[in-house]
Amino acid sequence: MKNIYITTAIPYVNGAPHLGHAMDYCLADTCARYQKMLGNNVRLQAGTDEHGGKIYQKAKDLDVPVEEYVKENAERFQDFIRQLGVEYTDYVRTTDSDHERRCQEIWNKLKDHIYLEKYEGWYCAGCERFVTDKEYEENHGICPDHQKSYEHLEEENYYLRLSDFKDEIVRAIESGEMEIAPYYRRREILKLIADSPDVSISRPREQLTWGVPVPGDESQVMYVWIDALSNYITVLGYPEKDIADFWPAYAQFVGKDILRFHAIIWPAMLMGLGLPLPRHLISHGMVLADGQKMSKSIGNVVDPVEVLNRHGLDAFRYYFLRHVDTFADADYTAEKFEDAYNNELANDLGNLVQRLATLAKKNNFEMDEVELELPAEYKQLMDSFEFSKAFDYVWDKVQNINRRIDEEKPWSLAKNGESEKLKKCLTGLTNELLTVNMMLAPFLPTASEKIKAIFTNPIEPPEQPLFPKS
Ligand SMILES: [Zn+2]
Repeated sequence: MKNIYITTAIPYVNGAPHLGHAMDYCLADTCARYQKMLGNNVRLQAGTDEHGGKIYQKAKDLDVPVEEYVKENAERFQDFIRQLGVEYTDYVRTTDSDHERRCQEIWNKLKDHIYLEKYEGWYCAGCERFVTDKEYEENHGICPDHQKSYEHLEEENYYLRLSDFKDEIVRAIESGEMEIAPYYRRREILKLIADSPDVSISRPREQLTWGVPVPGDESQVMYVWIDALSNYITVLGYPEKDIADFWPAYAQFVGKDILRFHAIIWPAMLMGLGLPLPRHLISHGMVLADGQKMSKSIGNVVDPVEVLNRHGLDAFRYYFLRHVDTFADADYTAEKFEDAYNNELANDLGNLVQRLATLAKKNNFEMDEVELELPAEYKQLMDSFEFSKAFDYVWDKVQNINRRIDEEKPWSLAKNGESEKLKKCLTGLTNELLTVNMMLAPFLPTASEKIKAIFTNPIEPPEQPLFPKS
């Protein structure tokens, strides 16, 4: 039994949960459930990123105390995660006093790699970031996301000296000490590392009040990185606790838009702390609405809670874990979702369970105790985080059992009184289905439980279809 630590990216709580968050949670949970099935001891982290000017401003606009605003949003995310069937063991809120204190201790430990410098440049208050001169020119001085002129700002910030760690990070990636999935993102990251300047990790208090104070400098507040990225270890109790049982993380799941921070700034911080790097960084794609990026201005944002409420958890996890490629961008349309539900979940799997359980009951068939084994091909795909491909593999098996029933025709064996052959046939089919069901468990935990209950002696077909057609 191994100790396995898996993490999800912590969302910034100035808005509602969206499909990108859902992908992160579903993938990490699938990984966690698979590891538990292998007999490992798993911790799965989740949390919320609750500091920053945007959150502060939003609370002000809504005229609610900011503490209340972030608390409500954290609860909303927790409800959402539970609704997705995610079995997390640890939850971190970055406004927790324990997290804040630990961040300050981490800052102090990194002090040799931190320096103060004056910065001047173009800034968008909406994005809460400086833009390069090149970006300024390309956008003609106006932020395309906020339709506001960039302002010229001069301020002092603390910086983390990435250059202290760049060579080591490159070595860790190239040697496979920290693996990036999918593999093709590696090259992109290696190139980015070479071009990465030192990173600003604080803001003056006049610019940012809602954040963790920089220890030893009342005039500065931590900005994003040390506060947010540290969550993965503060939730384990670092630095006062020895975290060696669960750190390094086995797998950290992130959206592809934030992979670069996790592959550059995060390893730099860990190296500065003398901690090992995560074993795997897994970057997943985005869900598109009918081929387009979802955005409020286009008005094509799909609310995951609505999809969940309409179709239920199994249908949700089925679509997004199988039909959305684990690594690449993929499409969601209500039509595709309905098709997958009716033709695949209801027809392929739901009918199969019904059909086989009915045949078994009618012929008083009882299953023998057998030790089921996970096929090597499935394990290989799951171990390399190719979840959508693993799910495809399982589905091939589902369709294969349906074909076998048609070919072996157990009903005519029964009719002809060939009871030995019938028993052998039903044994083969039920063992195959139970193996499939075991492989389905990390993806569709509730459906898998139901199928397991149906195929426990005495076999009893479900009274209601497992997946009622919509
Ligand atoms: Zn902006």
